[in-house]
Amino acid sequence: MNFDLSPTQEDLRGLARSFADEVVAPKAASYDLSGEFPYDIVAKMGELGFFGLPFSEEVGGVGGDFLAYCLVLEELARADASVAITLEAAVSLGITPIVRFGSDDQRAKYLPDLLAGKRLWAFGLTEPGAGSDAYGTQTRAVRSGDEWIINGRKAFITNAGTEISAGVTITAVTGEDHGKRAISTIAIERGTPGYTQAPKYRKLGWHASDTRELLFDDVHVPYSNVIGVEGKGYRQFLGTLEGGRVAIAALAVGVAQACFDASVSYSSDRMQFGHPIAAYQTTQMKLADMATQIELARLMTWKAASIIDTGKQPGKYASMAKLHASEVATACANQAVQIHGGFGFMEESPVARYYRDVKINEIGEGTSEIQRLLIAREVLAPKGIRVEPNGPQG
Ligand SMILES: Cc1cc2nc3c(=O)[nH]c(=O)nc-3n(C[C@H](O)[C@H](O)[C@H](O)COP(=O)(O)OP(=O)(O)OC[C@H]3O[C@@H](n4cnc5c(N)ncnc54)[C@H](O)[C@@H]3O)c2cc1C
Repeated sequence: MNFDLSPTQEDLRGLARSFADEVVAPKAASYDLSGEFPYDIVAKMGELGFFGLPFSEEVGGVGGDFLAYCLVLEELARADASVAITLEAAVSLGITPIVRFGSDDQRAKYLPDLLAGKRLWAFGLTEPGAGSDAYGTQTRAVRSGDEWIINGRKAFITNAGTEISAGVTITAVTGEDHGKRAISTIAIERGTPGYTQAPKYRKLGWHASDTRELLFDDVHVPYSNVIGVEGKGYRQFLGTLEGGRVAIAALAVGVAQACFDASVSYSSDRMQFGHPIAAYQTTQMKLADMATQIELARLMTWKAASIIDTGKQPGKYASMAKLHASEVATACANQAVQIHGGFGFMEESPVARYYRDVKINEIGEGTSEIQRLLIAREVLAPKGIRVEPNGPQG
């Protein structure tokens, strides 16, 4: 087993690292404070080809692989998790369903600007009453001739309300299939009458990332806006979400690494009782545990990404990577603030931002509880034991 990255992956990681250090990191604190969306950084990420990373040249991507995409996300998250989640939501939630399930016309219409990072596309699965149980969606699309008429709302949607947002793919109930709700994924362009984006939420972290509630009031879109197969949208999206989980794991590893780097640096300089606090074994044990857990989380992420690169679904390995990496990142942020003492509680210290930014990794794209449920379902399947709830989970 070879854990070395290929020369191309090494080069890309180096490029992302320099970009993160020189362009992203210097602005992270001010974007966090103002909550402004980082348009300039998004434009530069577009020029660097980051939005097309895991997609083939055939569809207009740069022909990289999923692991390369994860390496870039880790580097970006080390500098600013808001920037990393903007890329992750655009690629994993916005572009991927169009690449995987979109028609030739949909790909031709949307992908060039999305892959260039000139426009952003969102995915609206979650609703006020349907989160982990995303199958409980209440949004409905009713067919009328050559159109869908859509009514409903979506909650906590990333990248839908910026000046460069082009639209959103939503899940909506479109009928029944063998007595069960049939859910389809339908593209809605921004500016379509009846489609509105609420003001940005005030969030604990990820301040520079755009998150909004979306409202659909008699929205008319062409019937051909279905992405993929009518009635199969939910299943389609669950497969896509596995890749998203691996990407969130990479993002969590990046924040954990930032916590570790800041902790090594601060504890080596901070003098108490005549010595740097890193000279005390209590601090050394914390640093050793952080380094070990981060390495494990990174390896789990790379393994799940490598499975995707072989063309298979990562299944439980995606859930395991996200579960472990997100919990490790939260633990590292907690220890990083502790190592920084009172300064860690001050907004001038970067670790205060990491502490606020990190918790969401245990919630978005499937909570830790849901990841455990998915893992339990897969490991218990050979025994025929049901894991409740037995339906698909978001
Ligand atoms: C900043 C941000 C960005 C987001 N971006 C997007 C986006 O772009 N698109 C999108 O569609 N969604 C997005 N989401 C939504 C996100 O995926 C959901 O918040 C998440 O799936 C959890 O759903 P919920 O918030 O409704 O929590 P709930 O499902 O209400 O869960 C609340 C608690 O109950 C637990 N729970 C629920 N069911 C069970 C069970 N069966 N067993 C044990 N425990 C259970 C959960 O684990 C959690 O701890 C975003 C959320 C945030 C906060």
